Amino acid sequence: MHKIKNLIVSTGFILAIYGFTLPELPYKTDALEPVMSRETVEYHHGRHVKAYVDKLNQLTAGTDYENASLTEIVRTSTGSIFNNGAQIVNHILFFDGLCPEAEAKGRPSGELSDAIMRDFGSFDDFKKKFGESAGNLFGSGWTWLISDADGNLGIMTTQNADNPLRNGKVPLIAIDMWEHSYYIDYRNEKNNYLNNIWKIVDWDMVEKRYSDR
Ligand code: MN
Repeated sequence: MHKIKNLIVSTGFILAIYGFTLPELPYKTDALEPVMSRETVEYHHGRHVKAYVDKLNQLTAGTDYENASLTEIVRTSTGSIFNNGAQIVNHILFFDGLCPEAEAKGRPSGELSDAIMRDFGSFDDFKKKFGESAGNLFGSGWTWLISDADGNLGIMTTQNADNPLRNGKVPLIAIDMWEHSYYIDYRNEKNNYLNNIWKIVDWDMVEKRYSDR
């Protein structure tokens, strides 16, 4: 049996939410246009991420992971529970790290900007290295800007659902390199997706993750 985690009482109805729930987007589904279309966001969030949530609920029912946090699942689980739990976390990091182009500031500031200059030479060199790492990924996976506990930055590309938390690193930027993230809008032109996505990176969120590390 699932344990009831939340109760929402609304206009006389009581809705019980069981287990893991689909994380809400912090913006409307058309808010990232034209870089990322509403159709892409609707399929990506509403179908792909929802499928991971539904599957994780099935897989964890009656197991020790039924009431675990997603972070605990990412750090300690294996196999299908890991794959589905980590994909939920990866997508929260991805979607929460984006914002409408009109609200995006285009580049980092403050402590994070200084660290990017120190560790990559320049902001353009950072983006170039990130794009090369993402472009060289064969198959499905993610490209990350990561930090260690001391604030040293790095770029990491991982296969499938893997997450830098498994290696003790703090994920700052998560870019989804599964085809479902770009195929509707960019078809096979993965580099166009990568070049355009910088327009909608929410640097305020990335800076917050860096200062919270
Ligand atoms: Mn995805």
